[in-house]
Amino acid sequence: MIDSIKTDIVIVGGGIAGLWLANRLQQLGYNCLILEKGSFGGGQTVKSQGIIHGGTKYTLTGTLTKSAEAISQMPSRWRQCLAGEGEIDLTSVKVLSQHHYMWSTQGLGSKLTTFFASKALRGRVNKLSKKEYPTVFQNPAFKGDLYQLDEVVLDVPSVIQALVKPIQQSAVQLTDNAEIDWQVNEQGTLNKVVINDQNQRLTVSAQHFVLTTGEGTQDILNQLNFATPQMQLRPLHMVMIKHPHPHPIYAHCIGAQALPKMTITSHPTTDGQWVWYLGGAIAENGLDKSTEEQIATAKQQIQQLLPWVDFSQTQWATFRVNRAEPKQNSLVRPDAAYCQTQNNVSVCWPTKLALAPDLADQIIKQLSQLNIQPNTTQAVLPDWLNPPIVSAPFWQEYFD
Ligand code: FAD
Repeated sequence: MIDSIKTDIVIVGGGIAGLWLANRLQQLGYNCLILEKGSFGGGQTVKSQGIIHGGTKYTLTGTLTKSAEAISQMPSRWRQCLAGEGEIDLTSVKVLSQHHYMWSTQGLGSKLTTFFASKALRGRVNKLSKKEYPTVFQNPAFKGDLYQLDEVVLDVPSVIQALVKPIQQSAVQLTDNAEIDWQVNEQGTLNKVVINDQNQRLTVSAQHFVLTTGEGTQDILNQLNFATPQMQLRPLHMVMIKHPHPHPIYAHCIGAQALPKMTITSHPTTDGQWVWYLGGAIAENGLDKSTEEQIATAKQQIQQLLPWVDFSQTQWATFRVNRAEPKQNSLVRPDAAYCQTQNNVSVCWPTKLALAPDLADQIIKQLSQLNIQPNTTQAVLPDWLNPPIVSAPFWQEYFD
């Protein structure tokens, strides 16, 4: 019976960060084991809006710092993967919209047009003429201006599937009751983990360990006695609308403060309708609201923003979710993917779905600096370990 194995890299956490990294490392010849406690992609990843940000919304608010310039490279990097010409084959991924859009309410138009024509944004934002508008905005009642961003919107469940498939031999689905013992030696180096699951034990030795555990990271840092980094959670109260309106919408609405008032994406349901998914300021400002209050706010705001859309045949739902990130002063948004390596443990948060490729670059660079090379053979895993379960589209569970 197999009770211990050796591998090059153990990745704990199978969201976008762990999955992207596992694919890259496998291509480079490393043997990996990726461990997931929930379902693969079922954390923040599947709950994201799927927008491959290029940083436009941060430029608008003046918060695109120099170090966040990495994000401006992400749309083209993902588009190469979608076309089968990038570092990972994402040709099977469903593209929900080739572009995300930004619309301004009346009165902001000329200010925004001047801003978007600025050098910083040239080529990344296009003002559209009326005949180029996506169908949902082609209504005489729409009076604002509409801009097209160079940001593709993806169906995230299909991204997760595309990333799990190539590495499924190395992906392990832990059960709810599973426990991982972190075996740290006297020098403070982690060189083994023991997986206790289904009344069985497996000891896994590796050259290096990567934590891509999202919100679960702080618990593991405590178990490892790591004082840093520390994690912050930034909560959201998201709103979902299921309705028979035939057209999807992918857009940020810019209000008077030039902050996205609402970010709307649309996700298909199995019965052929759309779930419109509302984030942005409405989700950030709705933390103290009950479900009923949050829905009432959303109804009022969206009807005001899109007065020509009929919301009478609509089902509404909300849910709460945390964004897990490295701790910043005053709970602000971190501006790039984050990876800190101590001894042989890398602690990572991509901070954006879009930044998973950037995070993998950083980790691969650190492995190279530590001279960690592939030097194991592919381990045979014991039969009792479960194969990966891929997260389902989470919005389906909220509606009839
Ligand atoms: P997660 O997806 O949370 O994955 C961590 C995984 O680790 C989970 O599957 C969890 O089950 C597992 N885990 C935790 N503890 C353990 C343990 N002890 N053992 C084993 N496994 C464990 N970004 C964008 O770029 N575009 C967007 O449109 C966008 N929209 C967003 C909308 C919302 C509502 C939210 C919350 C985030 C959004 N983001 C977006 C951000 C993006 O979703 C996250 O930055 C990204 O998904 C984080 O990926 P991750 O792999 O670090 O974390």
